[in-house]
Amino acid sequence: MRGIRPHYVARSVYDVDYDSLLQDGVEAIVYDLENTLCRWRVWELDPPVWALLRRLEAQGVGLAVLTNASLPRSHTLTQTLAERGIVVFGSARKPLPGGFRAVLARLRVPPHRAAMVGDQLLTDVLGGRWAGMVTVLVDPLSAEESAFTKLNRQIERLLGRPSPSRFLFRSG
Ligand SMILES: [Mg+2]
Repeated sequence: MRGIRPHYVARSVYDVDYDSLLQDGVEAIVYDLENTLCRWRVWELDPPVWALLRRLEAQGVGLAVLTNASLPRSHTLTQTLAERGIVVFGSARKPLPGGFRAVLARLRVPPHRAAMVGDQLLTDVLGGRWAGMVTVLVDPLSAEESAFTKLNRQIERLLGRPSPSRFLFRSG
């Protein structure tokens, strides 16, 4: 399944080579939430994540969060991100295209100018690929996740999930 290979692999959101992405024409970054920016069902961001988002924001990068979690609009995290101009799209049903289309429309960038960064092949990478985005696979922050995700992990193993690297590299 070629469609399920990420363009890039990195150990965490901190290890993504953002400068290379920007040099390649990426103008916006869409993050998965659970096990990418925060732990499963722990809907708050650590200070280093906020620092990362602020740094990207200062570089003029458009930012959004696209999550399958049913994060309510009224949640503190959604509100705090919104105050920073970072829109959160919850209950996104990745890899289905609807959420990707909505987030790209909001960011006002064509798909090839946007990167999807997430920890799952079958939702983040597959959906991002279908949408025509640049995709970056990161390691999950924790082994704690939903039963559905655990099932997806088994499928990932069968598909040959690419190994993480401390450094960003092209995986084909
Ligand atoms: Mg995730």
